[in-house]
Amino acid sequence: MNPVRVRFAPSPTGHLHLGGARTALYDYLIARRTGGQFILRIEDTDRKRFVPEAEQEIIEGLHWFGIDWDEGPDIGGPYGPYHQSDRKEIYQEYGRKLVKSGHAYFCFCSQERLSQMRKKQQAEKKPPHYDGTCRNLSINEAEKRIASGEPYVIRFKSPKERHTVVRDLLRGEIIVENHTLDDYILIKSDGWALYHLAAVVDDHLMKITHVIRGSEWLPTLPLHSLIHRAFGWEEPTWVHLSVFLKPSGKGKMSKREAAGLDKDGYSIFIKDLKKLGYLPEAVMNWIALMGWSYDDHTEYFKLENLIEKFSLERLNPSPAAINFTKLDHFNKIHIKALPPSEFAERVKPYFTSCGYSVNEEMLVKIAPIINERITTLNDALEMASFFFKDKIEYNAEAMVVRDLSVKASIEIGREVSKLLADQRDWTAAAIELPMRALLQKMDLSARQVFSFIREAISGQRVSPPLFESMEILGKDQVLNRLNNAINFLQDI
Ligand code: GLU
Repeated sequence: MNPVRVRFAPSPTGHLHLGGARTALYDYLIARRTGGQFILRIEDTDRKRFVPEAEQEIIEGLHWFGIDWDEGPDIGGPYGPYHQSDRKEIYQEYGRKLVKSGHAYFCFCSQERLSQMRKKQQAEKKPPHYDGTCRNLSINEAEKRIASGEPYVIRFKSPKERHTVVRDLLRGEIIVENHTLDDYILIKSDGWALYHLAAVVDDHLMKITHVIRGSEWLPTLPLHSLIHRAFGWEEPTWVHLSVFLKPSGKGKMSKREAAGLDKDGYSIFIKDLKKLGYLPEAVMNWIALMGWSYDDHTEYFKLENLIEKFSLERLNPSPAAINFTKLDHFNKIHIKALPPSEFAERVKPYFTSCGYSVNEEMLVKIAPIINERITTLNDALEMASFFFKDKIEYNAEAMVVRDLSVKASIEIGREVSKLLADQRDWTAAAIELPMRALLQKMDLSARQVFSFIREAISGQRVSPPLFESMEILGKDQVLNRLNNAINFLQDI
């Protein structure tokens, strides 16, 4: 495949979500795969919906995945500026070009007139559309009205007869009857271009070869295509990706549905997934396969494998249900694949943000005993924060040995302490042996004694393997905690 030039063109109106991230990923992959360029363009002409922090969130979100771009608002490039808000004059110029060539026209209809028109159409049960009042004004006459200060917009002169055929790479030919097309506004009365004109002009000027985006843009595809043709430009290859459905598979993901995911510990927003302890490589692996597959069985991919294997031919246009169980699955396998030092580095911020001061060396040792027991990096906190606690909080019910009295529990605690104090070789295997002997001697079950020790050193009912944990905690700390547990029992 020839080198492509592709762009991710988000509007900074909210959080970066799975859909946007997937589009950016596919753009990036096909650009890298073909030795082409990936461009980030910020489509910020809709000033009413503009959210100032959104652009930074998009940039940080993409960098979190390891995605970078060759041209963009933060790094510049030969086809800039890359904020549409800095390209107002360009769109003005191209809007007027279309008027001149007869593909667009100035429209002076007032808001009141338009809303009356709409009401009438509603009453007649007709779809809302512009009635064409200014469609045939001469340019001379229009120029005069502009010169006299009348406000105006520029509308596209959509064809009214026959049909338009557009080709989408995944969906083949799409045919629309031209009488269904409205005379869409290209430039508003405040001089700002609407997305339709701005995107088409930019895609042409930035030499975009493939427009890859969500299929919510399919309905306006004929318009975009017609604008390209009106300028006499070659159209890019259009690629409209699959829609994401709710986890149930019934219907599209709505805002309300998205907000409701919170209670189950999930989210469709990238910054939330990071906070919840999902690895970027897992999220990326997951979304890569929501609309693309390499074959019918390979599912583990890292970024470098995706770059090597990705192709537009294997994109799937069918809707994809968002399956968070699958995300958990990918997170587990990507966590397991991290070398211990890398695991420690990634998991550390989850501890420090909760106020723990973390010993990194210890964290590297903890990695192999917890990495198969957690689904998210956040789970590491629940599993392993006892390693970094100054004080363990005990619970009377859990601290007393099963089926025994407080007194007997204290006795067991003392025996265990004594044995461990004499222990020279402080490795998991070496600690386990005398403990097993003690069980026999005291006629107790492993469950009774080991639960007691687990509770004493961690304050948890569930922990990573006990003896490995004791080895990592160190002899002094283990004895200290056993001692605290005994004191706690004495005070009951
Ligand atoms: N600004 C549009 C959006 O945020 C981009 C659509 C496109 O890629 O053409 O969805």
